[in-house]
Amino acid sequence: TATGRSRLISGLIRSVPDFPEPGVDFKDITPLLGNPNGFSAAIDELVATAPRDIDVVVGIEARGFVFAAPVALSLGIGFVPVRKPGKLPGEVFSQSFDLEYGAETLTVHRDAVPRGARVMIVDDILATGGTIAATAGLLKHLDVTLAQVSVLMELPALGGRATLAKAGIDSFDAVI
Ligand code: AMP
Repeated sequence: TATGRSRLISGLIRSVPDFPEPGVDFKDITPLLGNPNGFSAAIDELVATAPRDIDVVVGIEARGFVFAAPVALSLGIGFVPVRKPGKLPGEVFSQSFDLEYGAETLTVHRDAVPRGARVMIVDDILATGGTIAATAGLLKHLDVTLAQVSVLMELPALGGRATLAKAGIDSFDAVI
């Protein structure tokens, strides 16, 4: 059942207090990745959130790749990586955004997605929502429709949903 799968997945995510710095409750997905039943349940649940007529799955470096690529394979569509600066060899669009401390930039190949495509973003965790909002901003350069955002886990206390709503994302699902 879906509830059984959610319990299996939740039980395989480990909370590590005060990592990487005091006050952060870090969600460690490595036990889930090491468990084939759990990992496969996680991918199935993410695939179940995909609307029909999605053309491409976008994944965000680095942990997002681990979930987005198998979702794309399972849907029978392509995978597009969003990466940190200096990694993609072709011409890129860039989007910078503020983090709690400092700033971050994300890039995507200019020719990565056909014009007019319907795109789904898949990531591991929604925390503040800053990363996904920036990825949505990046995709605006590509002239595509962001039809769906799905994450494995949402940390509701950090207000990510409101950030996504502000970024104009109205179709969002979290598996747990
Ligand atoms: P955010 O931009 O704040 O939504 O967070 C973006 C990314 O940071 C997530 O996709 C995670 O990979 C990582 N992250 C943020 N908070 C946590 C946390 N408490 N535990 C594990 N990873 C986190």
